[in-house]
Amino acid sequence: MSKVFFIGAGPGAKDLITIRGAKIIEEADVLIYAGSLVNQEILSYNKKNAKIYNSAEMNLQQVLEVEKNAVKESKTVARIHTGDPSIYGAIQEQMDALEAEGISYEVIPGVSSFTAAAAAIKREFTLPGVTQTVICTRLEGRTEVPDKEKLEDLAKHRASMALFLSVGMIDEVVKRLTVHYDIATPVAVVKKATWPDEEIILCQLGNLAEKVKEHRITKTAQILVGDFIRTEYEKSKLYDKTFSHEYRRGE
Ligand code: SAH
Repeated sequence: MSKVFFIGAGPGAKDLITIRGAKIIEEADVLIYAGSLVNQEILSYNKKNAKIYNSAEMNLQQVLEVEKNAVKESKTVARIHTGDPSIYGAIQEQMDALEAEGISYEVIPGVSSFTAAAAAIKREFTLPGVTQTVICTRLEGRTEVPDKEKLEDLAKHRASMALFLSVGMIDEVVKRLTVHYDIATPVAVVKKATWPDEEIILCQLGNLAEKVKEHRITKTAQILVGDFIRTEYEKSKLYDKTFSHEYRRGE
């Protein structure tokens, strides 16, 4: 049966999409991709000469029209989003509209840019004795952030943080974070993680704004914040030789 597949394209590199996602694109009759961020090379997985739409130039109704008409003609649609579609993907409104029309759909997850950014700097968000929590958030832009999630309040936890959609407001980011984080807190800015023109800045909260401006980074970047970037930590229990678990008996 024909269906709409919401597919996470991954952070950029063509081979960072899942095998399942790539196979669906290969067979799809219609591709709708988020042109502002999805790497166009991903479209070349298609073997069917699919009709291609760039959703950056379309509104929600137009996207839904294409999806509905295609399914009516028994076609398969690959709706391609950047990273993982469950994070700032604006897919819920599409799924709910399809649901209301009785159109079947499925979501194929992807590698989000926040995990790609951690990989780029070769760091682990959840270090024992440092933090066991990752906060994914953003500064409010045209989309509001609920009051209870103000950046300065989230910063109170001193957890590992990944800030999406915020590098263009870097002064505000620093102002809010320094309410609770020390200015010596390590920060990484990863622009276009996994793209050929990936850029990494490692610095501290105190000089973050200056560095971002120096490198002229205004969009498509992750800001990672927290002691996980440079710190002393405890070894994991999972691989401790004295620790037993389901699959291994400790010494
Ligand atoms: N669903 C996507 C996020 C979409 S919101 C995901 O899971 O990654 C768009 C924001 O994601 C950008 O403003 C930027 O903050 C971040 N982003 C997307 N691709 C990126 C990349 N390759 N490197 C760094 N940040 C990226």
